[in-house]
Amino acid sequence: MKRRIINVVSNTNFESRKTKAYLLEKLNEYGFHVPKYFDESAELTICIGGDGAFLKAVHRNGFPDTPIIGINTGHLGFFQEVMPEKIDEFLDNYIAGNYKEEKIYLTGAVVYTRGRKFYLTAINEIVVKCKGSKVIHLDIFINRMHLQKFSGDGVIISTPVGSTGYNYSVGGAILHPSIEALQIASIAPINSSAFRTIQSSIVVPGNQIITLKPEQRYTNSSIIIVDGNEISYSNLTKINFKISNKIVRRLVLNSDYYWTNLKGKFL
Ligand code: NAP
Ligand code: MN
Repeated sequence: MKRRIINVVSNTNFESRKTKAYLLEKLNEYGFHVPKYFDESAELTICIGGDGAFLKAVHRNGFPDTPIIGINTGHLGFFQEVMPEKIDEFLDNYIAGNYKEEKIYLTGAVVYTRGRKFYLTAINEIVVKCKGSKVIHLDIFINRMHLQKFSGDGVIISTPVGSTGYNYSVGGAILHPSIEALQIASIAPINSSAFRTIQSSIVVPGNQIITLKPEQRYTNSSIIIVDGNEISYSNLTKINFKISNKIVRRLVLNSDYYWTNLKGKFL
């Protein structure tokens, strides 16, 4: 019989290494094979760390189709359902089939520069700012209709799962992960007689296209931040966003997890 394969990815902090050693021992006891390098044909990926580790595990491995669950050894661990002391219980439930799978919607973005296109995918959000902490001026379109001009520190386009990340810190709404939509939130918008923007965040259906178009003089000074990692492009003309065709499959053990997690980690 073919051995069942489970990937284990971990950050390198002390607690994570300890947890990983224990998990590997247990998986071995249960007869699972844990490959040395990430194997996309595995039935499950277990990610040890905080939210940063979760984001990295998905990005580094190219948004694999394998379902993923996290063990929280991080600071917040909003994505990480399993506590290290509950590993035995988790494995028993997993083997018994006591779990569900949920979709994590992602935002896809197409970055247009003069002559080239680049494709980006984010789990939490994509942020557009200006280099050197300057004010950025850009136009916001929805389905090619001009909605408003924005002036301020930047604009966040967040996914439903990303709504509790950066988006939340700037006053954006919390969206349940099952809602297929993107949210536009502003970072320190200027509102004066010179500049005017809508004061609240805006939730846009996932199939509509949000366009951010930096003013001409920002074509070489805009920066794009994908789940916390900064990228800059020369001759940037515009960025189109919509919900990606890709998804991340998340394993969920407790069906009330979202709300208990929200209450536990934000109140
Ligand atoms: P980090 O500096 O460790 O992240 C900042 C905090 O955000 C951490 O406590 C992290 O949890 C938490 N976090 C990440 N994704 C979350 C989510 N979807 N819901 C609730 N909390 C979440 O850097 P990182 O771990 O690489 O995470 C990158 C993310 O940080 C970005 O995608 C962005 O959402 C967020 N961020 C927030 C601000 C802000 O609030 N002002 C500014 C920049 C970036 P862990 O402690 O478990 O890692
Ligand atoms: Mn972190």
